[in-house]
Amino acid sequence: MAAPRVEKVLLAEPRGFCAGVEMAIKALAWMVRAFEPPVYCYHEIVHNRLVVDRFREMGVVFVDDVAAVPAGAPLMLSAHGSAPEVVAAARADGRYVVDAVCPLVTKVHHEAKVRARKGFTILYVGHAGHDEAIGTLAVAPDAIRLVERADDLDAAAKSVADPDRVAVLAQTTLAQNEWAGIVDDARQRFPSVWTATRNDLCFATTNRQRALTEIARAADAVVVIGSANSSNTLALAKVAREAGCATVLRVDGPDELDLAAIGDARVVGVTAGASAPEELVDAVIAKLAPRDGVEAMRVTDEDEYFPPPRELREMLPALDTLVATTLGGDPARARALGGPFAEDRALDASRVLASLGDEG
Ligand code: SF4
Repeated sequence: MAAPRVEKVLLAEPRGFCAGVEMAIKALAWMVRAFEPPVYCYHEIVHNRLVVDRFREMGVVFVDDVAAVPAGAPLMLSAHGSAPEVVAAARADGRYVVDAVCPLVTKVHHEAKVRARKGFTILYVGHAGHDEAIGTLAVAPDAIRLVERADDLDAAAKSVADPDRVAVLAQTTLAQNEWAGIVDDARQRFPSVWTATRNDLCFATTNRQRALTEIARAADAVVVIGSANSSNTLALAKVAREAGCATVLRVDGPDELDLAAIGDARVVGVTAGASAPEELVDAVIAKLAPRDGVEAMRVTDEDEYFPPPRELREMLPALDTLVATTLGGDPARARALGGPFAEDRALDASRVLASLGDEG
């Protein structure tokens, strides 16, 4: 018997690319246009399979060790932020390095440095092995303790030298609930604990979680689009379950969407993690083929914008000339793809990515 037809899709707004991912993708697209391949990238530029595969098709080589990058080669550091020794090693040997770290991750690195310098023990709520957590832990390794779950607090608390100097920092992409319980527990143990005025969970994470919570309450099933190694995507799936939605599917794209798994759901909520491009959202909705169409549910406007990485801003005028005179490239095409930085804000990374797909 054919599966019952989906009647309506509730589409979360905001969803998909955040300001940090927009910045990183456009920056790597610029590198690809400006340099002969291969352009190297330390770690996945963002945690999304389509994004990484598309850049691979354009000649980007992703590495987990900067020592694998030849001297003098162009190298981008991913949006998740890198350990200080990785940044230093990257800049050695005359490589052209662009650091696409999200400014909000940089802010957490800064908080970690300052607190460590002031003699604090830092309890860092994050996921072991995640690129962002690895980079942040390396900023102040002697002062930071990783706390993945509430159970880890006991051991971490024992290593606190001064109970009046304890700080709690967090990976930017956690679910609100992953953070809140641990910080409450830390406050019980250390009443003067220091946390950022507005916690470290970034605006994009929070906005996407709020939008999805609204939708999950009204939908029979929820589809979260994003890769399995994307922390904020996994957090979204968790949020949907905690909002009471019984059927929550995390898919990389339409190929992974099993319509049978949706069962007899008539109203399906759809959202996308901060690193998932809009073309995947379109394709998933096309597969769901809702009889009564799509209803967008917006909880807030998001107009944050992060300008290109400093190194790229500094080199752009030179790059334009370089592309024209040395590399045999087409500066007009490069401008059409990336736009002069004055117009960067208006440029949509999903469109940039789609145009790379047309060229690849
Ligand atoms: S999810 Fe937040 S911290 Fe991560 S890249 Fe996006 S804006 Fe930056």
